[in-house]
Amino acid sequence: MQTLITLYIAAFGLIIGSFLNVCIYRIPSKQSIISPPSHCTGCDTRLKAWDLIPVFSWLLLRGKCRYCGARVSARYPIVEGLTSLIFVLLYFRFSISVEFLAAIILSIILICVAFIDFDLKIIPNEFIIAGMLSGAALFAYNLFYQVDMYGDRVWYNPIIGIVCGAGTLLLVAVIGSLVYKNDAMGMGDVKLLAVVGLFLGWRLTLVALLLSVLLAAIFSCALILLRKLNGKSEVPFGPFIAIGTFVAMLYGWNIIEFYMGFIPV
Ligand SMILES: [Zn+2]
Repeated sequence: MQTLITLYIAAFGLIIGSFLNVCIYRIPSKQSIISPPSHCTGCDTRLKAWDLIPVFSWLLLRGKCRYCGARVSARYPIVEGLTSLIFVLLYFRFSISVEFLAAIILSIILICVAFIDFDLKIIPNEFIIAGMLSGAALFAYNLFYQVDMYGDRVWYNPIIGIVCGAGTLLLVAVIGSLVYKNDAMGMGDVKLLAVVGLFLGWRLTLVALLLSVLLAAIFSCALILLRKLNGKSEVPFGPFIAIGTFVAMLYGWNIIEFYMGFIPV
């Protein structure tokens, strides 16, 4: 039974991932995500159902369009596979629960934002609005039943989460713009952390924020060492917020427990 549900969720993740590819590609340029139906960007041929089976079609056609032979980016199967993997890991963590549903919704937003920010260095407001609305629903739910991710049932916990997450980044942004006269920390990152705060509560949000800052620092240092980055080029922070938040959702409480073990009481 467990195996069957896992397979079902993996397949569901592939299908959602396939849809997220469309969102990542079309939402930043304000195109409809429903019409026109999926078509090859090389020859405009409308793709048939068997061209659109997540991951498998790409592998069978060896990354080429069946009709014109144009290369199809490996990004498509990667997004599909990644979404599926994340859904399965979240299922193992939360089993079928309200927390699982919330984590799925937040993941959908984070996957889109991570890839769009990576490509274009923007975080469209559509995702922030969707995140705040669904986060608010989780907040309302917590007034009646405890949400596992918050760790306690104090009603204002997610609000402290927003202040801790977005507030910290806002402070960094303000200091950055005053001292260095640049805005490396965009307002999109600040708003995204507000969404994360609303979903995770303050403890896991701090874990997510610390992890994302740490990962971004390591990544930037590596790029500087490899001379791929100079002082002017900026690294988008959105993908790191996404990774930090996934790790916090999956292992945040283990990290907190591990860390607290070092504090003598
Ligand atoms: Zn084609």
